[in-house]
Amino acid sequence: MSIREKIVKEYEFLKPEMIKTIGELITFPSVLDEEAVETPFGKNIDLCLDKALEKCKELGFKVFKDSKGYYGYAEIGTGEEMIAVLGHLDVVPAGDIAKWESDPFKMEQRDGKLYGRGTQDDKGPTVIALYAIKSIMNIGLKLNKRVRVIFGTDEENLWRCINRYMELEEKPSMGFTPDSKFPMIYAEKGLLQFNAIGKGESVVLSGGGAYNAVPDKFQYKSKDLKSLEEKLIANGTKYEIDGDTITVFGKSVHAAVGEEGINAIKMLMLALKETGVATPSLDFISDYVGNDPYAEKIFGVLEDEASGKLKFNLGKVEINSEKSLLGIDIRIPVTISKEEIVTKIKNIIKQYGFEYEERDFLRSLYVPLDHTLIKTLRKVYEEETEFDSTPLSSGGATYARSMENCVAFGAVFPDGKKTEHQPNENLAIRDMDRAFIIYAKAIYELAK
Ligand SMILES: [Zn+2]
Repeated sequence: MSIREKIVKEYEFLKPEMIKTIGELITFPSVLDEEAVETPFGKNIDLCLDKALEKCKELGFKVFKDSKGYYGYAEIGTGEEMIAVLGHLDVVPAGDIAKWESDPFKMEQRDGKLYGRGTQDDKGPTVIALYAIKSIMNIGLKLNKRVRVIFGTDEENLWRCINRYMELEEKPSMGFTPDSKFPMIYAEKGLLQFNAIGKGESVVLSGGGAYNAVPDKFQYKSKDLKSLEEKLIANGTKYEIDGDTITVFGKSVHAAVGEEGINAIKMLMLALKETGVATPSLDFISDYVGNDPYAEKIFGVLEDEASGKLKFNLGKVEINSEKSLLGIDIRIPVTISKEEIVTKIKNIIKQYGFEYEERDFLRSLYVPLDHTLIKTLRKVYEEETEFDSTPLSSGGATYARSMENCVAFGAVFPDGKKTEHQPNENLAIRDMDRAFIIYAKAIYELAK
């Protein structure tokens, strides 16, 4: 019998228990509790982690829970090196219960799918990988590396779980996270959000909000809107006037694809500047940003083959007589360093009296295409599916970027449906079957 045949046979045996385990974890509404005191992220997340670790112990894994309860892991095997599967047990809230056809926290199987919050993101795929490892143990395949399943508990929010893991624990030599889609995501831009903070100004501008979204609406008040109106018309900007308030309309898109949107804040600021109003923030936006989503006047042309162009989004402004704040989101190509970007931006905003205040930074994800990890996962994926295995670059943030030499690998297939974070989230049994074999083979190939 080939290794594949043995895995398939073992899967038939493990499948009912595996589905039961997914169901047990779904019963915990493991949503972040901001008010939690005894546990870092709330009782339900903690209980869910305990349940997962208890299950792993029964399956023959060595288990460990962080002393503060931020994460846990289950491990098999011996050897110097360690291969990791990184999953998470926290979920987003169920949202509008009326839109669910069954209880989000009681898994239900119907029309070939498992329904429940977390079935796809990410309890289902994590448990599939866990049992895939179990199948390798049962078959008795020899591994030369340890295999560790890491259970994160704060992926949907601030990644405090995996950040603490990375501070305290052994880092894997390679790994994947089953928390996205197939074939795999190997490149994600660095994500930088910062505020340019300056002194009070003679204009009042307030609006936008989410740094990672192109604002589609912006309001401005003035007794005399006439010349502003002329400029907006000349620029082809949509607007509406109600008394002394003008509302400028843009088009909202995610900051990762800012070039497809229209930034209402920028359109207003640029037009206002054209009417002759000059303040440091209007000058900066007009001199260096303009209508360019790549802000090439600041950075030059910055792009690479793996991840494309740098993206620059002004997502929020708060300007009044007391102080001014420009909230900016930058997506940095994977081969460009954060330092290079920060130095350039600091030098330029300084000329306008602004200081740089960092709000958030997520380092990029980048595993070169000729890396063993990529080659191995592609080979397995090609053997098991008809789909194109070309690794993908993404503008978003998958869990994979929390560690080196890690990619996002499944578990949604190109012919499957992304239902994460939505009502009636589900995992198709057919996808579960396919993912199991792929994960078992991949883990074996990486750890043998
Ligand atoms: Zn997830």
